[in-house]
Amino acid sequence: MIPIAKPLIGEDEINAVTEVMRSGTIAEGQRVKDFEAAFADYIGTSSAIAVNSGTAALHVALLAHNIGKGDEVITTPFSFIATSNSIIFTGATPVFADIKERTFNIDPENIIKKITPKTKAIIPVHLYGQAADMKSIMEIADDHDLIVIEDACQAHGAEFDGKKAGSFGTGTFSFYPTKNMTTGEGGMITTDDKIIAERARMIRSHGSKQRYFHEMLGYNLRMTDISAAIGLVQLRKLDDLNEARMRNAAYLSKKLDDINGITLPYVDRRCRHVFHQYTLRFNNSIASRDEVAAFLGKKGIGTGIYYPLPIHRQPYYKEIGYDGSFPVSEKAASEVLSLPVHPGLNLTDLDMVLGTLHEMF
Ligand SMILES: *Cc1c(COP(=O)(O)O)cnc(C)c1O
Repeated sequence: MIPIAKPLIGEDEINAVTEVMRSGTIAEGQRVKDFEAAFADYIGTSSAIAVNSGTAALHVALLAHNIGKGDEVITTPFSFIATSNSIIFTGATPVFADIKERTFNIDPENIIKKITPKTKAIIPVHLYGQAADMKSIMEIADDHDLIVIEDACQAHGAEFDGKKAGSFGTGTFSFYPTKNMTTGEGGMITTDDKIIAERARMIRSHGSKQRYFHEMLGYNLRMTDISAAIGLVQLRKLDDLNEARMRNAAYLSKKLDDINGITLPYVDRRCRHVFHQYTLRFNNSIASRDEVAAFLGKKGIGTGIYYPLPIHRQPYYKEIGYDGSFPVSEKAASEVLSLPVHPGLNLTDLDMVLGTLHEMF
């Protein structure tokens, strides 16, 4: 069986956890501080604030920027549900802007069309490990005085114009086991703004700087030292893990080039695409996306559909009144299929995936 995703946990991670367990400090402590410093350094921001999930990172980032009731936040409907749910958590309203066909990322021209006097922020998602068009998005934000919160939950180490995803606006990351690096569950906020960093630290821990003095409403969204110890080891491996993903992706694309009706992943020249997912599009194909997925599944090859239903079409979003039309996202949802690309694959695995696809076509 070749799984669609697999965390690479080695002796180093196991030893790091054991050490924390023996130390007696297992909740937020020095390991979290060290992980934050190392992550900020890696992304190139002055601060990083660790939390217990990517969803929490998005939620805290929005609250730190004072976004709430009456505000509109523009984002993509072609993402994981947490992107727009985090907006709803704050009382603000998600406003969707459709994606670009080739990159699956939010289309800057559609962002402009959705700006109203209530718009306060934009949340681009760097889907599948490729940064959204951050040049255009930062220009739009500048022109309209908008906050940018990057959903970089799939883009640890990705770059746009040589600059890391998560360092353009306020960055948010997830360390769920399927991501490019993991802490079990976990998340991180990255920022160059000292005030946002301080507010984020307070919001993650009951609104307090000093224990038992609460200056604002906060939550308990802290990361444990156990998770941070795993994160410190994984961060050191991240560049190698990403290189392996990029190599696997290049190999797959080279060998799939000859199959008609498959659209290969498009890599924007300005981007370092870290291939959180390797996503094909099946259109005009002799087999449908779902037939291909079923055939690969029968042969023991895991695939994934990210995402089969755009957010505006989700039952909960229908219930709260969303019914717009986002044709590029809807088409993508019916055509995309992701193949295994994770660093745990060897050449035999990749050839098995390729052989099975060639067999089918
Ligand atoms: C994984 C993910 C999240 C949420 O992260 P969790 O750690 O699972 O809460 C948010 N947005 C995107 C695009 C993701 O892929």
